[in-house]
Amino acid sequence: MNQLKILKCKECGREYEVKPFHVCEFCFGPLEVAYDYEKIKRSISRKEIESRPKNMWRYKEFLPLDGEPAVGKNVGFTPFIKAERLAKVLGLRELYLKNDAVNYPTLSFKDRVVSVAISKAIEFGFKVVSCASTGNLANSVAALAAEGGLESYIFIPHDLEQGKILSTLIYGAKLIGVKGSYDEVNRLCSEIAENYQWAFVNINIRPFYSEGSKTFGFEIAEQMGWKLPQHIVVPMAGGSLITKIWKGLKEFEKVGLLNSVTTKIHGAQASGSNPIVSAFKNGLDWIKPQHPKTIAKSLAIGNPADGYYALKTIRESGGSAEDVSDEEIVEAMKLLARTEGIFTETAGGVTVGVTKKLVEKGVIPKDESVLIAITGNGLKTQEAVQDRVGGPLIIEPKFSDFEKKVRPKDNK
Ligand SMILES: *Cc1c(COP(=O)(O)O)cnc(C)c1O
Repeated sequence: MNQLKILKCKECGREYEVKPFHVCEFCFGPLEVAYDYEKIKRSISRKEIESRPKNMWRYKEFLPLDGEPAVGKNVGFTPFIKAERLAKVLGLRELYLKNDAVNYPTLSFKDRVVSVAISKAIEFGFKVVSCASTGNLANSVAALAAEGGLESYIFIPHDLEQGKILSTLIYGAKLIGVKGSYDEVNRLCSEIAENYQWAFVNINIRPFYSEGSKTFGFEIAEQMGWKLPQHIVVPMAGGSLITKIWKGLKEFEKVGLLNSVTTKIHGAQASGSNPIVSAFKNGLDWIKPQHPKTIAKSLAIGNPADGYYALKTIRESGGSAEDVSDEEIVEAMKLLARTEGIFTETAGGVTVGVTKKLVEKGVIPKDESVLIAITGNGLKTQEAVQDRVGGPLIIEPKFSDFEKKVRPKDNK
């Protein structure tokens, strides 16, 4: 049984058969996967989903594969955490974290989208996969291409963090550092995609890739006991994750897995790369491209592909958008680590920092429930906090030196 129907233009609604294809030939709008929700509604239940293995494929009816996933069978179902210590600091009554910093296999939410994209690329018969990446996508495409036995060509801005470069190369990927910003890398890749029969996970495979993001929202709903928090704070780069979390929650509502969805979705960016936040604050419904400059490199996209739809999601849900400075990002990374024992990358610093700001501004009321999306791992962006955590206390291997330097008598 296969509930997948068609590709559908998000703007003019024109329908296409499923193929590796992402732009409407008629109006140039982006294509999206549409499902037969009536059919899904009849075949699925909370109980049926709960009986399945604890990974993102437990929601397979809402994902665009024809068969079983070829790669990434263990991705997803990451920890859902009640964050009481952080809640106290932020002055919130009820705070949760969804922790994709420990997603499998490459420690970011990108494993969700890439396992769908590469499995679909294999269904289409591609032999080479590729992507333009701000870092985490590179890691995930390299790892999951290796798992699927495919060749991978990965394009990044040449000045990414060492952790992200190393954890792409280790899988044997061909890594190309382009002397330019992500937006220039992406433009180059669009040109290559027109001339090579490669599966670019976030270009010609994008409609399938982005569906994987919905599972982040599905898991929040299920792990909360088929309920939702009143607020979700989501990081935005290209604006796909935030858009698809909302699409997923609305799908759950449509098929009766959730009662009416009233969650407000808030978008978070770094001040040095805030095209979507800036459009929201200025009341625009179009995005003015920027030249990003921030330590939050995974979010540094100046011309976001789904920026328009991210804005639409924020407004439709009644949410808001906010940004934080690099200094606030580092402080928030340290705060999360100190209070909850979670070492997130800069993108997690952005969502924690933005949540703090939205609470202080009264946009998020202190007595309402909030979930913060943690989407990446701090071990990959060590440069951001290297000089901000001090160093070890060095002592001689002697008890006397320990007592002298570490635990002076009056401090026993
Ligand atoms: C890619 C990425 C995002 C945002 O992704 P978009 O879907 O492009 O908005 C958020 N957090 C991390 C860590 C990422 O790598």
